[in-house]
Amino acid sequence: MQFRLTDFPIFDQTNLFPMSLKASLMLVLTVIASVLIIHSCDPKPLVESPSRLSEEDILPHIKELSDDRYLGRMPFGPGDKMSVDYLVEQCKQLGLKPGNDGSYTQSVPMVEITSTATKDFVVKTGQNEQTYEFGKDYVIHCQKTIDEINIEDSELVFCGYGINAPESGWNDYEGVDMEGKIAVVLVNDPGFGGDDKAFFKGDVMTYYGRWTYKYEEADRQGAKGLLIIHETNSAGYPWFVVQSSWTGPQLGLEKESIENGADIKGWIHLDMAKDLFQSSGHDLSALIRAARTPGFKPIPLNATASTALSNVYKRDVSDNVIAYVEGKTNPEEYILYSAHWDHIGVGAPVAGDSIYNGALDNASGTAVVLSVAKNLSRQSNAPDRSVLFTFVTAEEQGLLGSEYYALHPTVPINQIVANINVDGCNPNGLMKDFQIVGIGHSEMDQITEDELLKQDRYVLPDQEPGKGYFFRSDHFNFAKVGIPALFGEGGYDHVEHGIEYGKQKKADYTSKNYHAPSDEYSPESWEMSGVVQDAQLYYNIGWRLANSKEWPKWHPSSEFRRTKTIVD
Ligand SMILES: [Zn+2]
Repeated sequence: MQFRLTDFPIFDQTNLFPMSLKASLMLVLTVIASVLIIHSCDPKPLVESPSRLSEEDILPHIKELSDDRYLGRMPFGPGDKMSVDYLVEQCKQLGLKPGNDGSYTQSVPMVEITSTATKDFVVKTGQNEQTYEFGKDYVIHCQKTIDEINIEDSELVFCGYGINAPESGWNDYEGVDMEGKIAVVLVNDPGFGGDDKAFFKGDVMTYYGRWTYKYEEADRQGAKGLLIIHETNSAGYPWFVVQSSWTGPQLGLEKESIENGADIKGWIHLDMAKDLFQSSGHDLSALIRAARTPGFKPIPLNATASTALSNVYKRDVSDNVIAYVEGKTNPEEYILYSAHWDHIGVGAPVAGDSIYNGALDNASGTAVVLSVAKNLSRQSNAPDRSVLFTFVTAEEQGLLGSEYYALHPTVPINQIVANINVDGCNPNGLMKDFQIVGIGHSEMDQITEDELLKQDRYVLPDQEPGKGYFFRSDHFNFAKVGIPALFGEGGYDHVEHGIEYGKQKKADYTSKNYHAPSDEYSPESWEMSGVVQDAQLYYNIGWRLANSKEWPKWHPSSEFRRTKTIVD
């Protein structure tokens, strides 16, 4: 189970090309020499962090924010202002500087859209006409703030996986003008289910596999619409999840890219896809094979679709809280901590309790970031670089506060060295390991491992890389704009009770407390030592980066490589 990053295949690039013995020897000598150089003339010894974080720095915030008075911290709800006021007050008390042009808050305007189908979904193929049923066969919605959407005889084009990945020389939209047309695409990416671990990372989900990416790409391609073919295994969830998630009100940011993008987006059931392809003279299995083959070109389906939707929308505003500690020598460079303050509010009662307190998710992460801020602000010596703290809203509604920040940053994005995101914590006591979610993207892995070793701990790789958890919390929006990000999760390997105990504890939380009213703090079931241990780790990583000239880089295989080169 024990594991070093250097054992991880992604870092083993020495077998890419066959090497002569002489070349191998040269490589070994070069490596030895560089190791000696690193150790003999370190330009500046790493500033040791003098701070020792404690339970008292963290627990009061968890108790406060998860109190019933906050009503589950739902954006726009009564708990919204209370949470924001509390966080602003804490930032002031710590002497942090306001992070948004003299203000501690950043308004995040959001729009809630409810789309209703007003006409049947009709597909014409030659002389045939087939009508499909909303909910059972397909689910579509409109993300734009317009009242009516009419689709009339729009051409359907099969665009493989809907991926345009220039770094892999892959473009499923190659050579086709999508204006006025609807793209029909497969879920996940072409590497899924294959044997080749290097091809779109095999079963590890890449961002190209997420539906959010496919939506964005269809907008960029100027398509009229996008239909994703649902398949349970590749999606990772059954059709009813699509049905329940994509019907009813949808909260989002009002964005130009969306307003100018596709009119309809959504999903079609696998049976509808089979039927549609067959009636237009195509075979789905053959199309899937073609879509997984390099050089795939989009295939017009000789079919058109017609439908109509009406939209009801309303706007509302919540807030991100932003504050910072100013750096001593390089104040224009930033280490960015993030934690979402929101949760899901009041809902269906479970065992007589209807307040979804979100103590772990994410009062705990918010408290941990406050504890880091507290310990940084009480240092007599400020770090070299500035440290920025963002407490973002509406994570649970689709990572919206962090997305807004990434689109409207309060400091230049290319001056942000790295992001450390805290979403949840480990309430089960001291651990020997620490899980890096989405491992293999950037040098943040190595930095984390260095700091873990100092705590006598080891790296646990992402335990469910096929589920794409790296794309499901706020750091993802920072990664998307090129900021190397760390998203960790406390480990499984309990110092006293071992791995099975740790796994059981984690499984218990997921099955009983995740997004349930019972996500509450209790002194009986929470062992705060693990929370403090991870808070210290996050602090140490930030402290190290804030006192170095390091710019952690993305690995070449990552889909988030910075597009701009950072000047060292
Ligand atoms: Zn969360």
